[in-house]
Amino acid sequence: MPDTPDVPPAVRALAAQVAQPRPMRRGSVTERFVKCNKPGCACADRPEARHGPYYSLSRVVKGRTRSRWLDAEQAKTVRQQLEAGQEFRKHVEAYWQACEQWADARLDAPEAASQEAAKKGASKRRSRPRSSRRSNRS
Ligand SMILES: [Zn+2]
Repeated sequence: MPDTPDVPPAVRALAAQVAQPRPMRRGSVTERFVKCNKPGCACADRPEARHGPYYSLSRVVKGRTRSRWLDAEQAKTVRQQLEAGQEFRKHVEAYWQACEQWADARLDAPEAASQEAAKKGASKRRSRPRSSRRSNRS
């Protein structure tokens, strides 16, 4: 990847974090204990005798809930994937904030940003202190 010189270190670090591929997902895991409705089964009147746990993964896609059943082992894996997804969301948010600060800095000091770019493209000539240019401002 080409090195972009004026990327703030914070933005660079967060970009690397966001770009890290991981198995992850959105949605939620539900754990259920159910009645079986078979005559004479204890689950009919004793909540603690209900069957389960049964796990399902749900996710709303375009207003519709999609679900699938999971066994206990899958449920464990899916919970980790959901956690990874939430972490990713946090990283994306942090990345947005860093980029917006960077964008704000460009608005507040566009002159400095372009001077810095020019300086990096130029030869070894020493850069003059900025204050000499600003002395006549009021
Ligand atoms: Zn039962």
